[in-house]
Amino acid sequence: MTLPNIPLGREPLSRLHPVHQHLPERPGWRCRACGAAWPCPMARMLLRAEYGPDRVGLSVYLAGVLFDATEDLMRETPPPTPGELFERFLAWNAPGAPPVTVNPST
Ligand SMILES: [Zn+2]
Repeated sequence: MTLPNIPLGREPLSRLHPVHQHLPERPGWRCRACGAAWPCPMARMLLRAEYGPDRVGLSVYLAGVLFDATEDLMRETPPPTPGELFERFLAWNAPGAPPVTVNPST
């Protein structure tokens, strides 16, 4: 399964305001807006808002993203561990995970 690259402007929320453009830039998977490792805190909050109560749907989306990100990020030196990839892309949305917060200074 391969998700297409996510071009700027294709995500529904990204059309609303520049603050919503916390999208990944490949192949480094850094946020286009803030430069943090994607999904940055703002991207996590926006994804949660976009999917609402559909945590399963968000998990399916994130699993597809993880698949594509793994292909890109495993080319880095050193490559991330499977645990690091899990924490970064999936764990934050797992049931019982702490709520997503955004530091207003970032
Ligand atoms: Zn960001």
